[in-house]
Amino acid sequence: MPEKITQNADGSLNVPDEPIIPFIEGDGTGVDIWPAAKLVLDAAAAKQGKTIGWVEVLAGQKAFDETGNWLPDETVESFREHLIGIKGPLTTPIGGGIRSLNVALRQILDLYVCLRPVRWFTGVPSPVKHPEKVDMVIFRENTEDIYAGLEVEEGTPEAKRLIEMLKDELGWDIRPDSGVGIKPISETGSKRLIRAAIEYAIEKQRTSVTMVHKGNIQKFTEGAFRNWGYELVREEFADFAVGWDDCDGDPGDKILVKDAIADITLQQVLTRPEEFDVIATTNLNGDYLSDALAAQVGGIGIAPGGNINYVTGHGIFEATHGTAPKYAGQDKVNPGSVLLSGVMMFEHLGWQDAADDIVRALEATIGDKVVTYDFARQMEGAKEVKCSEFAQAIVDRL
Ligand code: NAP
Repeated sequence: MPEKITQNADGSLNVPDEPIIPFIEGDGTGVDIWPAAKLVLDAAAAKQGKTIGWVEVLAGQKAFDETGNWLPDETVESFREHLIGIKGPLTTPIGGGIRSLNVALRQILDLYVCLRPVRWFTGVPSPVKHPEKVDMVIFRENTEDIYAGLEVEEGTPEAKRLIEMLKDELGWDIRPDSGVGIKPISETGSKRLIRAAIEYAIEKQRTSVTMVHKGNIQKFTEGAFRNWGYELVREEFADFAVGWDDCDGDPGDKILVKDAIADITLQQVLTRPEEFDVIATTNLNGDYLSDALAAQVGGIGIAPGGNINYVTGHGIFEATHGTAPKYAGQDKVNPGSVLLSGVMMFEHLGWQDAADDIVRALEATIGDKVVTYDFARQMEGAKEVKCSEFAQAIVDRL
């Protein structure tokens, strides 16, 4: 009998062998990649004696067509009740009340960590010489920064009032024909994000956490993020981690917590990837960094992600690419992103063996040069297969 995942008193998850997991198929290529990913996830779970009780919930175009609502309350409630879920890509409604369904889900459930592991899988075509040196895990803050959506449009009475108020109260000169945005970065938001990154580093025996920020320019937001991080290390993690300044760069057997400016980071992840391990960063920096890094290891077709609140136990794992509407329904695109999001979900549930099995089978499939179009066009001698055939090939190698 499928049962709900629950949270234990210590915050950990209590995962039954037949957990109920809500899923959003996703718009566009969701109809192709979701069934393909599900085939592999079910097969890997079954191998370990587990069964997933999938429950479909609606969001995006499919929800709008069936209910007139882009993000029905029942969907949010189902994720709230079952704690863990997974989703395909969603169409962003244009001119609707919601800016982005993904951002809405993250904010409603306060999923404050956007978790993006970036590693190379053997055989995946890459534009860099040593993609195997990339093995980073990005913790991107998910609720603050410019994504808080606090901005006023140029020429509106609100913009005029705000510009006048800033002139009167703070003496700031802002051109009258400006749009103005507010970038909030709080101690609470920063510390809970960096805490999650350090706890992950401890649990997974990683060696360093780099806080990426733009504090040289924005001292009281980005710079404060960095300072709060070092404060947190001293306050809560003194037995396990040490800040760069407190150890002159020699952490002994502790995790080294260091920081780097965002612009130089974008160079160094390319030129010296081995120096980066876990990364904790603010929302916008994390957005740029995760896409740039995804390109280094084979592109968005296989980049997974998860949105997590480690306190309430909620997590939604997701394909990081969009709906690629020109390919929808063609059984063509790579299901890797949503499949590897499922692998992240398995790891989060403690199903490490099933997760490892999928990664091994995926690498074996790519190693045999059996790949979807996106990889085939970059590999010599590849056998291009359909989305569903790629999934079956992985299952055959499980
Ligand atoms: P996109 O759907 O990510 O597609 C851009 C390109 O990425 C595709 O043309 C394709 O490249 C490649 N691609 C995407 N998915 C792939 C896959 N599974 N396998 C292999 N290659 C893949 O971006 P978009 O066209 O800008 O956005 C389309 C819609 O998706 C918009 O409504 C947007 O708002 C939405 N969106 C949703 C999410 C989300 O739900 N998380 C994220 C981003 C965008 P080639 O043309 O080179 O083959």
